[in-house]
Amino acid sequence: MRSVPFFNYPHVFKNSEDRFIETLRDVGRRGAFIMQKDLADFERNLAAYTGAKYAVGVSNATDGLQIAFMAGGLKAGEEVILCSHTMVATAAAVHFAGGIPVPVEAGPDHLIDPAAIEAAITPRTRAICPTQLNGRTCNMDAIEAIARKHGLEIYEDAAQALGSKFKGKGAGTFGRAACISFYPAKVLGCLGDGGAVLTNDDEIYRQLLLLRDHGRDHTGEVVMWGTNARLDNVEAAYLDFQLKDYPGVVIRRRAIASLYQSLLGDVPEVRLPAAPGSEPDHFDIFQNYEIEAQNRDALKDHLKSRNVGTLIQWGGRAVHQFPKLGFTQRLPKTDALFQRLLMLPLNMSMVDDDVRYVAECIREFYKR
Ligand SMILES: *Cc1c(COP(=O)(O)O)cnc(C)c1O
Repeated sequence: MRSVPFFNYPHVFKNSEDRFIETLRDVGRRGAFIMQKDLADFERNLAAYTGAKYAVGVSNATDGLQIAFMAGGLKAGEEVILCSHTMVATAAAVHFAGGIPVPVEAGPDHLIDPAAIEAAITPRTRAICPTQLNGRTCNMDAIEAIARKHGLEIYEDAAQALGSKFKGKGAGTFGRAACISFYPAKVLGCLGDGGAVLTNDDEIYRQLLLLRDHGRDHTGEVVMWGTNARLDNVEAAYLDFQLKDYPGVVIRRRAIASLYQSLLGDVPEVRLPAAPGSEPDHFDIFQNYEIEAQNRDALKDHLKSRNVGTLIQWGGRAVHQFPKLGFTQRLPKTDALFQRLLMLPLNMSMVDDDVRYVAECIREFYKR
């Protein structure tokens, strides 16, 4: 029987093993471990790729989003509206920056529902933080209109969305600042933890550089409180050569999504993500292929019995569903959505026959 793991971690390394060892040797022989030329090169190339004015390498996207809120001057007790269908990290970044995360409903495309944002605004609301989920950028026209109307700021959790666009504009470039993640399973992954913050704002950029390195300026003088949220130079070097291949990776991921669409588009029991090219405003990079499925748990078991790995995002729980974090929101649409969500394998280790096999197994399940 064919086997299609949800994500093949060793394969990611094997794919670029020689280049990584080369990079490691090069960086190691130069002793260039912390904030060296490789980091600066990567930051410049990443900014150019995204269309942001600045990119700042950080330890991971969670730290990055937290220092982005701090750099933007989020004050204690100010509320930040986010989608409950996101990683708990989005809410934690708000929390540790002193703010109050306010989770709201996800819409039909699984991203934050603009109508739900407006309903959650209070006099304490400072910002909206949409998550550009699954490699798709939200309808930013709708979110920007709400922000303008109510005098709110926008920050983006673009951890999953490097290279994704709305109306030709890149994820991570809409608000005051945004985080990107280089966790190994992300589309641009490194060999451990890593992230970046994007911003177009000169002052936020200046603050981010201080916040990520103990509040030290370029002379080494401590000019404010900071922390250690640096991206390792060797990871930056590795990411920089991976970034050169990234456009090709995006093309392949979109091709897999198109193949899923052609193989499963007529199965009434599943609802698929928008097919690549089907919506002119959106350019999705398919970090994930998250479907809605009838009888989801039995389908997941069936696929497992056929050696097909699937995953329910966030362990199957939306942010407001973690009672120990003190949330009191009632979000029935998101609760219902979380009964149906399932992610099918979509990664660079797959060949087209793997995709056909996964689709066949799904069709077989619903035919019985
Ligand atoms: C992966 C992810 C994060 C966290 O990224 P790290 O780099 O692991 O901190 C945050 N938000 C979303 C939506 C993610 O998918």
